[in-house]
Amino acid sequence: MKFNTKTIHGGQKHDPAYGAVMPPIYQTSTYAQTTPGGHKGFEYSRTHNPTRQALEHAFASIENGNYGLAFGSGLAAIDAVMKLLQPGDEVISTNDLYGGSYRLFTKIFEGFGIKFHFVGMENAANIEQYITKNTKLIWVETPTNPMMNIIDIKATAAIAKKHRVLLAVDNTFATPYLQQPLNLGADLVMHSATKYIGGHSDLVMGALIVKDKALADRLYFIQNASGAVCGPQDSFLALRGIKTLHVRMQRHCENGKAVAEYLADHPKIEKVYWPGFEDHPNHDIAKAQMSYFGGMISFVTKGNDYDEAIRIVEKLKIFTLAESLGGVESLSGHPASMTHASIPKEEREKTGVVDALIRLSVGIEDEEDLINDLEQAIG
Ligand SMILES: *Cc1c(COP(=O)(O)O)cnc(C)c1O
Repeated sequence: MKFNTKTIHGGQKHDPAYGAVMPPIYQTSTYAQTTPGGHKGFEYSRTHNPTRQALEHAFASIENGNYGLAFGSGLAAIDAVMKLLQPGDEVISTNDLYGGSYRLFTKIFEGFGIKFHFVGMENAANIEQYITKNTKLIWVETPTNPMMNIIDIKATAAIAKKHRVLLAVDNTFATPYLQQPLNLGADLVMHSATKYIGGHSDLVMGALIVKDKALADRLYFIQNASGAVCGPQDSFLALRGIKTLHVRMQRHCENGKAVAEYLADHPKIEKVYWPGFEDHPNHDIAKAQMSYFGGMISFVTKGNDYDEAIRIVEKLKIFTLAESLGGVESLSGHPASMTHASIPKEEREKTGVVDALIRLSVGIEDEEDLINDLEQAIG
């Protein structure tokens, strides 16, 4: 099956009870047994639930993996990956990282004796110098948030293989429509399914997808033992979201291109960060590992004025000022006062998160309305 067909049929069976085409929402915690241990593969819904299982099969299918796992949030999924590690182990992570991942690594897992190196990975060769005998995991986010840096997954996978280290890729921004890390040599893919996978800003969920059975078994054990699973209602919504992932992403990409080009030509804009531009430092890598460039864009106005950036995000009408991304509706965000407010100004400016940086999640509305909205807000 090719990708668009997989989003609709991948890993799916019609419900055996009545032939329902959509998997029913099995809103149950437990399952009747005829004799102790005599059940139909389901005992307790933390361990297995038919709706969640249908979703986990869909996750595996769209990322071209063999096993999928669904969690109560993206961070719960990352938490499960970190529990593969032991005190003394080391992780090499992207430095321009989702803030919640950084907080989980530094505020929780550092306390459990795991050491993190936050490294600029735009040049994959940078990674190798941080590998020690204790390194167990390389954690990559690409495109990065909010600077839209691109990291070469294939080159990073070659380094990981050479040193027998696991490579995990947070594929939230790209989605499997644009980029399939397992095909490029990664061992594990993670998603905040809250974003493009769900696609309608109506759920919070995480996903892990792997190829290797032994790794999958360890993760299923952690999923059940720690228990951060998602419920059947949210599993149903995510399954429904996946079915339109390809048409939504196609429009996100088209609108993203139109908005990026509009901003790049605007006399009041200093800089636009979008991997589709030829002068993006890793445009060639983006072109090689992604089928297109997505709908996430960051930009900076001339003069780098904090108050002007606030004024623009307040004036936008169709772009709602809000956390999150990846839904059908367009959103704007001001990292310096929102997601990155807790990072000291000098620290955040080092990675490019300056006062006037605005991040857009370009939705699937009409292109003309989006551009008119930006026009009236930027002036
Ligand atoms: C949102 C997000 C997360 C965290 O996911 P939640 O579902 O909010 O827990 C992780 N990585 C990236 C890139 C994200 O955008």
